[in-house]
Amino acid sequence: MRTSCNNGDMRIDLHSHSTASDGTDSPAELVAAAERVGLDVLGVTDHDTFAGLDEAVRAGSRIGVIVQPGVEISTQRQGTSVHLLGYGCDSTDADLTAELAAIRDGRQQRIPRMVDKLVSLGMPLTVADVQACQGTSLSPGRPHVADAMIAAGYVANRQQAFDDWLAVGRPAYIPRYEVELERGIGLIRQAGGVAILAHPWSRQQRAVLAVDYIEYLVAHGGLDGIEVDHQDHDAPMRAQLRDLAADLGILMTGSSDYHGRGKIGYDLGCNTTDPQVYQKLCALITARGARTPSNR
Ligand code: AMP
Ligand code: ZN
Ligand code: FE
Ligand code: FE
Repeated sequence: MRTSCNNGDMRIDLHSHSTASDGTDSPAELVAAAERVGLDVLGVTDHDTFAGLDEAVRAGSRIGVIVQPGVEISTQRQGTSVHLLGYGCDSTDADLTAELAAIRDGRQQRIPRMVDKLVSLGMPLTVADVQACQGTSLSPGRPHVADAMIAAGYVANRQQAFDDWLAVGRPAYIPRYEVELERGIGLIRQAGGVAILAHPWSRQQRAVLAVDYIEYLVAHGGLDGIEVDHQDHDAPMRAQLRDLAADLGILMTGSSDYHGRGKIGYDLGCNTTDPQVYQKLCALITARGARTPSNR
């Protein structure tokens, strides 16, 4: 039986999504998929919800994969979206759960507005069409709208839906509520968790996450680390972020950001985290005394 945070040649992927948010594998299927590709540790980090964690942790103990509970919080800096990973948070923390509920509420409210926009752009859809793609997710997002567009035959896949219509700056983009980044980090820390910037230099994020601001977040904002190895980072970005993390003495993680069938090129285990880094992350969680679904 594997126990949490042992060492050796462990293969560790700390960022993945289930049907609790916008992945296409149920939490149990996600963990089974991790086992099939030989992962020892899987971080389950659904957008703005802890809803998939209990099922994932249970599947992990059955299958023999260590599930690291996490969440990917939708934050913003100066109006630009920034994704923030929280590991080992107390999933019952009142302030954190209230904020996540507010963000999910903003997601729900956006769906009819996006549907209206698509109708006006000549792509008739209904909220029910999106809900059919949303399934059990309480954290609906653009990928579910994309799936409804695919089902209606308007686009071939999620990528095309984003590139042509849904991405920032495209005709059907609609913003939604996101918590301010520094408050998001504070909420994770207050809930006993470890705060890591997800894919800091992907898409628009790079413009608002300059090196000196990341330094500021570490020195004054409670930031614990950055995701370095991610498919959205090219080799020069990874090298620069690796140097930055080493200079600052912060955690540097590597992850797939797997979403199942919907996102091509983000296969489980395509990037991994050094076991020694994961050990440090676990030590921080333990030191902060968080209660998580696996130990509460
Ligand atoms: P939302 O939660 O509605 O803001 O949608 C964000 C999710 O959609 C991300 O987690 C990605 O999985 C996916 N996504 C965002 N932008 C793109 C893009 N340009 N191309 C493909 N997928 C994207
Ligand atoms: Zn996603
Ligand atoms: Fe993300
Ligand atoms: Fe993600």
